[in-house]
Amino acid sequence: MLELERTRLECRRAVRVGSVVVGAGRPVLIAGPCSVEPGYVEQALALAETGADALRAGIFKPRTHPDSFQGMGREALPLLDEVRLRTGLPLISEVLSAEDAEALGDRVDGYQVGTRNMQNYRLLEALGDIGRPVILKRGLSATIDEWVAASEYVRRRGNDDVVLCERGIRTFETRTRNTLDISAVVVARELTDLPVIVDPSHAAGKREWVPALAMAALAAGADGLLVEAHPTPAQAWSDGPQAISLQVLAGLVAAIRHHR
Ligand code: PEP
Ligand code: MN
Repeated sequence: MLELERTRLECRRAVRVGSVVVGAGRPVLIAGPCSVEPGYVEQALALAETGADALRAGIFKPRTHPDSFQGMGREALPLLDEVRLRTGLPLISEVLSAEDAEALGDRVDGYQVGTRNMQNYRLLEALGDIGRPVILKRGLSATIDEWVAASEYVRRRGNDDVVLCERGIRTFETRTRNTLDISAVVVARELTDLPVIVDPSHAAGKREWVPALAMAALAAGADGLLVEAHPTPAQAWSDGPQAISLQVLAGLVAAIRHHR
């Protein structure tokens, strides 16, 4: 083992994302719609009421088909400003490129790198240079070692504020959208000093299955959850079938508090 790795493992890292600390012992709950929509301000105020710690705020969306809604883009920047001002909660926004990060400017507290971009090394280096926290999702066919190696691209640029996020991997199983690899939480937390959170939404693909997967993640020692939630899930512009309602989100908030 390299000396650097040994030193890192001796103390677990806590990553501050705005006013929230991931990896400080108390699991955090990041929630919000898959993508920012025109009704985002009202949605975010309602989500904040449930007691979520931070909000999803994706305006650049990496969709499998180019005809699918690609996110509101720069047009949504004023919505992010208003939500940050009115809720006081940290915002996490996905970036597909360094230009996306530049467009977001100081409006967000952390970047999300999606599963499709886990091995976009130039992007990871650019985010390392910027220095803001990065939530690095596991590639949908990436091994745990490849995922941890990807985090090093951010860290070698001097930014250690990386949170790993397991979101399900591709297996032979087709009933679920992806197969949630709970063991990855345990193994990644052993291999690195970084906090590990879980996104049960993209693993399940179906809202009814999200709470059980979320509880499984907490039981495995996850440092937090990243969950898709929407006041009217059926009307969500993207990933509606896996978005949980405010009521279910409030249940998760209570469960996570109990877990603390
Ligand atoms: C998302 O969080 O909306 C998303 C696109 O996730 P993933 O990269 O895990 O598919
Ligand atoms: Mn989504």
